Amino acid sequence: MPRILDGVAIAAAINQEVAEEVRALTKLGIRPGLAAVLVGNVAASEIYVRSKVQSCGELGIFSELIKPPETVTTEEMLKLVTSLNARDDLDGILIQLPLPAHVDTKALLDAVSPAKDVDGFHPINGGRLLAGRPTLAPCTPAGIIEILKRSEIPISGQHAVVVGRSDIVGKPAAMLLLHQNATVTICHSKTRDLGAITRQADILVAAIGRAGFITPEMVKPGATIIDVGMNRITDPAEFARFFAGEAKREATFAKRGSTIVGDVHPEAFKVAGAYTPVPGGVGKLTIAMLMANTVRAARMRRGI
Ligand code: NDP
Repeated sequence: MPRILDGVAIAAAINQEVAEEVRALTKLGIRPGLAAVLVGNVAASEIYVRSKVQSCGELGIFSELIKPPETVTTEEMLKLVTSLNARDDLDGILIQLPLPAHVDTKALLDAVSPAKDVDGFHPINGGRLLAGRPTLAPCTPAGIIEILKRSEIPISGQHAVVVGRSDIVGKPAAMLLLHQNATVTICHSKTRDLGAITRQADILVAAIGRAGFITPEMVKPGATIIDVGMNRITDPAEFARFFAGEAKREATFAKRGSTIVGDVHPEAFKVAGAYTPVPGGVGKLTIAMLMANTVRAARMRRGI
């Protein structure tokens, strides 16, 4: 039976460590603080931001939720970011994506002070990551490394294949794996004979955004699979293709009319030696690493 890498338990362990760090900083008179900027009323974004703010509260991190209206302009957002950059009680600034189409997302992410860029999206932090310098690494890729390390899955010398090359997940995940001495291959939509490459992977990271895309024949027996994908499916036929006969999932689907599927087909997990489930895997780490980055930013900003 493949081993399930339990994101819930690993995230809880990280949260506990972060809470201890917050207590230690508080004794020095420092309370780490995070500003979360949420534009408009996108339901999924509201849920994410609410979880982040709640997590801050649980760990003793100060948080401030700022909700500009859907009609906010790029200029108004830039002014807001400038004011947040200047505030000493804030160590992290989080701009929840996606922003409305009329707002220049890149300009805004570039305007966040790199010292407060707890999402790790600023090009300066990307460059530091590339150069192997201390930085604020993007949360989901950092969470992948935590899962592997804390599950005692060897990385050094292993062939890690990352499918997906986004700036948020694929690229930084590949770089972090390289820094851990994996031999890394990055694949994308133009990769030829993808299966021939993924079958070589000791560690297979799927960050594609397509439900059940990685099938059993694409997996080397015994490999570790990290499934980053979070794809909501609502079509009963598609649901049946993935989960027919799984009573618990079927009950949830019948109740909610949707479920979340990763980028890896559930049958492919059976070939693996270990894997992160969806839900309950990588997703749980993303918020935990955001909290860890906020505390890290609080320390780095003060040279602690
Ligand atoms: P993007 O859409 O930005 O990137 C997807 C990548 O997959 C691209 O590099 C694309 O290649 C590649 N790709 C698409 N189709 C194929 C294909 N047929 N064969 C090979 N590669 C392909 O997505 P993200 O990186 O932002 O997210 C990926 C997934 O991870 C999504 O499901 C998202 O919801 C999830 N996610 C989960 C998080 C979590 O906390 N668990 C956090 C962030 C994302 P190309 O560059 O050539 O177009």
